Amino acid sequence: MDCLFCKIIAGEIPCDKVYEDEQVLAFKDINPLAPVHILVIPKIHIESVAAVDSENSAVVAHIFEVIAKIAKEQDVDKDGFRVVSNCGENGCQSVKHLHFHILGGRRLDATMG
Ligand code: 5GP
Ligand code: ZN
Repeated sequence: MDCLFCKIIAGEIPCDKVYEDEQVLAFKDINPLAPVHILVIPKIHIESVAAVDSENSAVVAHIFEVIAKIAKEQDVDKDGFRVVSNCGENGCQSVKHLHFHILGGRRLDATMG
C-alpha cells in the first residue's frame, strides 16, 4: 500500500521515534508547529477518524493511554497540551493514515481553525 505512515511503521522511511509497542508508534513531526509536536499512529492502517468502528476502536482507546503517557514523559501534562486529528478534505488531512498530533510546550492559539 502506498502509505507514508505504513512505510514509517515498516522502517522503510526513518522517523524520530518517541514510543513504540505492538499496536502503536509515536514519532516527532518532521515540521513541528510547537516545541512538542508528536504524531501517534496505529500500526494497522486506518484511513482516518471517519474509518474508526467497533472492529478497530480498541487501538484508538490504547492510543489515548499512550498519549497520556507521552504527555507526562514530555513534561507537558501539567501545563497542558492539545490533541488533534485532522480528517478528510475539510479537516486538511494530508496523510491518509489515522494519526493524532500532540502539540505542547507553548501557549497554543485559542482558535480551532
Ligand atoms: P495532517 O496534515 O495529515 O494532519 O498531518 C500530517 C503530519 O505529518 C504533518 O504535520 C506533517 O508535518 C507530518 N509528516 C509528513 N511527512 C512526514 C514524515 O516523513 N515524517 C514525519 N516525522 N512527519 C511527517
Ligand atoms: Zn497506512
